[in-house]
Amino acid sequence: MEKRVYNFSAGPAILPEEVLKEAQKDLFTLPGVGMSILEISHRSKAFDKIILEAKENLKSLLDIPDNYEILFLQGGASLQFSMVPMNFMPPKNKADYIVTGSWSKKAVKEAKRTGTVNIAATTEQENFKRIPKQEELKLDGEASYVHFTSNNTIYGTEWKNEPETGEVPIICDASSDILCKKLDVNKYGIIYAGAQKNMGPSGVTVVIIKKDLTERSLDSLPTMLNYKTHIENNSLYNTPNTFGVYIIMLVTRWIKNIGGLDAMYKLNKEKADMLYSCIDESNGFYKGHAEKESRSIMNITFNLQTEEMEKQLISEAGAAGFDGLKGHRSAGGLRASIYNAFPKKGIEDLVDFMNKFQNKQS
Ligand code: PMP
Repeated sequence: MEKRVYNFSAGPAILPEEVLKEAQKDLFTLPGVGMSILEISHRSKAFDKIILEAKENLKSLLDIPDNYEILFLQGGASLQFSMVPMNFMPPKNKADYIVTGSWSKKAVKEAKRTGTVNIAATTEQENFKRIPKQEELKLDGEASYVHFTSNNTIYGTEWKNEPETGEVPIICDASSDILCKKLDVNKYGIIYAGAQKNMGPSGVTVVIIKKDLTERSLDSLPTMLNYKTHIENNSLYNTPNTFGVYIIMLVTRWIKNIGGLDAMYKLNKEKADMLYSCIDESNGFYKGHAEKESRSIMNITFNLQTEEMEKQLISEAGAAGFDGLKGHRSAGGLRASIYNAFPKKGIEDLVDFMNKFQNKQS
């Protein structure tokens, strides 16, 4: 079999090897079913078991209370940018948005189509290098909800704790850090995340939703854009991404087997610390983009002195088996996305490579 490279891509991203091997087996015949996972009906008993386990695993990993529902939808996190305001802005038709990067801005753009958006804080003038502090937030106590992005994939920043919003429900885009650590789900109205970074393949979006929020969803909404439809039909109103849900089941099973989210977080923190230490100990050869207190443990963003050197590093790294280190086109520089499944050995090897690259240049 061809050798696997280290995949630092921001998403779709690396998956656990154990999961890929298991899926490879089931791709021909699911045990006891005699058909491929790609061929079974979403209304079959076999798929009932798969969606149930995926939900149960998520529920136990994140301690999701019974008054929440777990949905597997399509249209990416990007469709949630529209569904959230369409369902939850009424009747007040106003909401608070905290802008910490390009994805928050896209969420704002869609919310403005439904009602009034109050930008409770933005760090755009500082090139999104930090997360605003609680005292900087200009929250409207009458807002329908407060929306924030827990991890900013492009700029490499993360919230250490969710914002405090009093009685106003919190809605969180957790696309690039869901399942990287424990969360107090009770504090949230909705947590949504595209699966393709920490949970599975692209094409399926997990939505964890407090059920009573849907009292606001108007029956006049298009059927597919109303959360009530998906809650009432256990995500089976239309044909879901069956393969995506199956991979989420395997990935969540894998996280449970390695010790759950506390163990996952410990590993993630160790991995991120190794890379940030390499940056911090380079005497300015590598410069981290994010301010230290706002640093993400999922996406590590940094620069070199010149764009030319950045290009050289990316090219040499590519040849040495480190793929996907180029920063996002809107931010430039370099970005190492080191999600849950990224192996510690890969970070050790990258650090070694970066140290050697630095030594060669000086
Ligand atoms: N939010 C965040 C934080 C993201 O990183 C991304 C994708 N990189 C999106 C939203 C958009 O997700 P999708 O492509 O699944 O619509």
